Amino acid sequence: MPDLDEYARRARAWLETATAALPPDPGLAAARAFMADLHDAGYSGITWPAEYGGQGLSAAEERVFQQAARDLVLPVGVFGIGLGMCGPTLLSIGTEEQKRRYIRPLLRGEEIWCQMFSEPGAGSDVASLQTRAVLDGDAWLVNGQKVWTSVAKQADFGLLIARTNPDVPKHQGITMFVVDMHDPGVTVRPLRDMTGESHFNEVYFDDVRIAADQVVGEVDGGWSAAVTTLLHERVSIGMGAARTERPASFEALSGAARERGLLANPLVRDRLVDLYLQERAFDLLSARMSQEVKAGIQPGARGSVVKLLLAELTLDSADAASEILGPGTVAHDDDGKIARALAWGPGMALGGGTNEIMRNIIGDRVLGLPREPQVDRTVPFRDLKVGTQAKEASK
Ligand SMILES: Cc1cc2nc3c(=O)[nH]c(=O)nc-3n(C[C@H](O)[C@H](O)[C@H](O)COP(=O)(O)OP(=O)(O)OC[C@H]3O[C@@H](n4cnc5c(N)ncnc54)[C@H](O)[C@@H]3O)c2cc1C
Repeated sequence: MPDLDEYARRARAWLETATAALPPDPGLAAARAFMADLHDAGYSGITWPAEYGGQGLSAAEERVFQQAARDLVLPVGVFGIGLGMCGPTLLSIGTEEQKRRYIRPLLRGEEIWCQMFSEPGAGSDVASLQTRAVLDGDAWLVNGQKVWTSVAKQADFGLLIARTNPDVPKHQGITMFVVDMHDPGVTVRPLRDMTGESHFNEVYFDDVRIAADQVVGEVDGGWSAAVTTLLHERVSIGMGAARTERPASFEALSGAARERGLLANPLVRDRLVDLYLQERAFDLLSARMSQEVKAGIQPGARGSVVKLLLAELTLDSADAASEILGPGTVAHDDDGKIARALAWGPGMALGGGTNEIMRNIIGDRVLGLPREPQVDRTVPFRDLKVGTQAKEASK
């Protein structure tokens, strides 16, 4: 225990100095420099294997560090997909060469990662994807389109899933690849969302050649690779959010209600108590899940519970904010932070799987209820009339 106390003391001291040195609104260069310093100081990839650039420490150190960082907003958002999804996927199923090549720069913020699963005709039903990868000599030739790809504009690499065999049922002919986002055949077009920012993008692939050694997992085994990434995604969205700023939190809104003399109003109090309970439930569940993950227990489908709770909390708190603050919410009170939270809220109920899909997963795989009927699970992909399937693909 004294070692851990010393570790906690050093972590707190380091974080205090490092966050005090950050500019008020850290841009990409400052965020990258922060990640490199975090890694040099021994706090990036705390439990990741040392041979690939992690710190090789235990869940106990990770817990202590998270505790020390709990109330701080660190400029690590742009690295979230790499740290929370792509890195863990490569560590689980990547080749030795892939781990040696990609993990260290990812942990140091030198290379940013994105995840390219969703397509215009394949979101909830992502197995209907149509981006094609065809073996051409010693490389794969990729053509198609992805959409809603977070941080693609900043990314150096991405995990892509593409159809490699249309003659088998849709879940069976998919392969995962590492894509170099700087390849001349990759075009990234930012999409503006309701916050006015361009968080996600469209990504087009025109004859992008991907070397055979960039396949992640098995050829045609991309569905199970994608499930690995998605499970990490849900847990990491849920747990990551435990540390992000909450402008429409119980604390912020009860303060705003007090200032406006609204605390005597029973409807407002009722709303606030509801919010408090939801926040406590989310914080406790995400803390428990985070400890389980760090102790090596995989939450599996239960990650969907945290993700669903977070989406509901985000929407409900934005709703409560608009009731309590009235028009002030959109009149950019509080530096526009609440207005931004209001605009960002609905995205939380979609990204990483929609609330309806989370409920389906919880029903099927956590509660053991009967599965939804799926009539297309055994039909070869090329015979399906899915989404926007192009004529050529179904020939
Ligand atoms: C902020 C944000 C970030 C994102 N980042 C990424 C990213 O980095 N990479 C990536 O690949 N994707 C990303 N996405 C895409 C996201 O994964 C999809 O939006 C999501 O899976 C839903 O797909 P869709 O938008 O095509 O909606 P659809 O699947 O068309 O769904 C439309 C509606 O139908 C409902 N529905 C669909 N199927 C069922 C069913 N079986 N039962 C009940 N209801 C159903 C849905 O719940 C939804 O309400 C992001 C999305 C957002 C909002």
